[in-house]
Amino acid sequence: MDHSSSNNRFRSTIFNHGDQDQDKEYVGFATLPNQVHRKSVKKGFDFTLMVAGESGLGKSTLVNSLFLTDLYKDRKLLNAEERITQTVEITKHTVDIEEKGVKLKLTIVDTPGFGDAVNNTECWKSVADYIDQQFEQYFRDESGLNRKNIQDNRVHCCLYFISPFGHGLRPLDVEFMKALHEKVNIVPILAKADTLTPTEVKKKKIKIREEIEQYGIKIYQFPDCDSDEDEDFKQQDHQLKESIPFAVIGSNTVVEAKGKRVRGRLYPWGIVEVENSAHCDFVKLRNMLVRTHMQDLKDVTRETHYENYRAHCIQNMTRMVVKERNRNKLTRESGTDFPLPVVPGVGDETEKLIREKDEELRRMQEMLTRIQDQMHTQKDGY
Ligand code: GDP
Repeated sequence: MDHSSSNNRFRSTIFNHGDQDQDKEYVGFATLPNQVHRKSVKKGFDFTLMVAGESGLGKSTLVNSLFLTDLYKDRKLLNAEERITQTVEITKHTVDIEEKGVKLKLTIVDTPGFGDAVNNTECWKSVADYIDQQFEQYFRDESGLNRKNIQDNRVHCCLYFISPFGHGLRPLDVEFMKALHEKVNIVPILAKADTLTPTEVKKKKIKIREEIEQYGIKIYQFPDCDSDEDEDFKQQDHQLKESIPFAVIGSNTVVEAKGKRVRGRLYPWGIVEVENSAHCDFVKLRNMLVRTHMQDLKDVTRETHYENYRAHCIQNMTRMVVKERNRNKLTRESGTDFPLPVVPGVGDETEKLIREKDEELRRMQEMLTRIQDQMHTQKDGY
């Protein structure tokens, strides 16, 4: 039986794509990027940005300038007395932004009170705890039954504001960044750059970069660009890396400069324009966050920071479960139970604690089994 004619018909229907390129055969997977694009656009994007740094450095003004929103309408500013005793609080604002049919759910996590108290020892702790809690929630959801509808609140980037008035980094800056650099992508910001001359900005940037290196702080690293990229792209990439820390200016007002209405700050001696790259790095920062590196920031969060957390968690859980198994084995072998401490009036309390611990262990064991099953399924290629 001759199969060739039917085979050829099959090939010509499936592979010959239109009239443009008669000689070439197409399978059709060149449309894959479009399919992915359409699906992502339909689903919408989300991004969680944290801002941290001493109050008054212009964090809220910058966020509003970056996303052209007013996220801080209901903010209550504390007076000096209230700020002395205030602990670091974490606040979350979410806005849905739409541009040319593309939807972005933006979440801003703010840390009011950071660095405001008289004693700021370990004031980064609540920020670190918040980031860990989001990882924990994701870890639980991911290992749970309802994996399809996980709400992802992991923090993808932290803009850390450095004061323009100091001589480089302050001890608190170093402490904060070192405590968080393995949990989140830190992007350092030199705040209120309009208070410095261009030479001062340049010097301060060099000093801060040197100190970041000296203290072993691992800030977000822009991915290296491929060697086959064009020269323009390479140049832009180099400039971006050299801009760290981004020297920014924020403003919520529109002023008139050279006949044009622009976002800027009006001074008796002139106007500083937020979006003028001769005045500051605002546009570079916005492009980096929104146009060029948003996906990379999310990838690094998922592949590096979250993976570290997850590996650490699984290690701890395995250790606890093994310890408990050994304890149970020992109890069974010796035929006796470990005596519970008899303290008058606290027997019930101790039993309650043990029951809670057993329950937690049981949950961990279940979670571990589920993770192992998932790993096997992935390995078997199902
Ligand atoms: P936050 O406490 O860090 O959120 O700071 P705010 O955004 O509330 O700003 C504190 C003050 O600094 C306000 O009076 C702002 O108008 C002002 N400000 C904000 N951004 C800038 C800036 O880039 N340059 C200057 N000179 N002042 C700014």
